[in-house]
Amino acid sequence: MLEKLKKEVYEANMQLPKLDLVTFTWGNVSGIDRDSGLFVIKPSGVAYEQLKPEDMVVVNLKGEVVEGKLNPSSDTPTHTVLYNAFSKIGGIVHTHSPWAVSFAAAKMDIPAMNTTHADTFYNAIPAADALTQKEIEEDYEGNTGKVIVRTFKERNLDYEATPGSLVSQHGPFCWGTTPQKAVYNAKVLEVVAEEDYHTLQLTRANSELPQYLLDKHYYRKHGKNAYYGQDNAQSMTHAKRS
Ligand SMILES: [Zn+2]
Repeated sequence: MLEKLKKEVYEANMQLPKLDLVTFTWGNVSGIDRDSGLFVIKPSGVAYEQLKPEDMVVVNLKGEVVEGKLNPSSDTPTHTVLYNAFSKIGGIVHTHSPWAVSFAAAKMDIPAMNTTHADTFYNAIPAADALTQKEIEEDYEGNTGKVIVRTFKERNLDYEATPGSLVSQHGPFCWGTTPQKAVYNAKVLEVVAEEDYHTLQLTRANSELPQYLLDKHYYRKHGKNAYYGQDNAQSMTHAKRS
């Protein structure tokens, strides 16, 4: 069942140690098949070097295991909440990457301070509230997803334009249209967190990007007028000729 997606999710998980985004087993990637409403996620606590595509666990949008010999990631309820709330995402990544965790521990948004940030994230990456004792005792992992969804609603953020969030005192969750893109976004988030940390050490001056530079970089890569890269090479040539 969903063998192609299992391979894709397996490969996305294997990218995490390669990109220095995880230590030990502290991370997971999932990917969803929207037609069947089933998602595939890494099993819980298996070392990356022992992981195989067939170990991936298939789960439905109620968070119930549909297929798999191993237990799914303990963060499966978080993924379930995010897939239900954010209907256009195709993949989710959770890591404890250290620069992102530093901002999460400080309960600080990752501000948009450079064009690397603006190329992928259209806003500051929010630090969603830390969970209350009640939320932790009641349904820790499910409420971790809910706190992200609540933050996006409260701040009126577009989850497609800001494809990731911190959870205060915990770490980053990122998403994308595919598991691979979610991993890409998780690495960008980690890189900009490190860069912002250093910027904040170097200056107390307001270094946040002006809106016009943020717009320039974000819309160069996203939306109908994007022109970065090769995807639209034909249409650009055509446009120039006409
Ligand atoms: Zn975690």
